[in-house]
Amino acid sequence: MKHELPLCEMCKSPLKPDVVLFGDMITEHMRSEQRIKQADFMLVLGTSLWVTPFNTLPELAVYECEIPAAFINREPTAKDELFKWVVHAELKDAINELKKVLSF
Ligand SMILES: [Zn+2]
Repeated sequence: MKHELPLCEMCKSPLKPDVVLFGDMITEHMRSEQRIKQADFMLVLGTSLWVTPFNTLPELAVYECEIPAAFINREPTAKDELFKWVVHAELKDAINELKKVLSF
C-alpha cells in the first residue's frame, strides 16, 4: 500500500495477480477439476474451505478420484476430516519445514 498500483496501459484499471480474489468471477473451475483428475496427490494450502465451488475440489480428489490429499491451514475447518494429512500451522512456517523435508 506504500506504492502506487501499476495500471493497465489499455483501460487504466489496477493490475492484479493471476488469482481469484473474493467477489471475482470463477473462470478456471473446470480446468481445476480436469487437473485434479490427472493428479496423484492434492495439497491444499491456507483456506477456510468456506467458498463454493472451490471448497468442493477436495471432495472431488478424495471421493471421486481417490487420490490422497494433504491440508495445511492455520485454523481447523469443517473439512479437515477429508484429508489424509492435516497440519495446523502458519503457512510460512509449514512451507519452510516442507522445503527442508523435500530439500529444495
Ligand atoms: Zn485493461
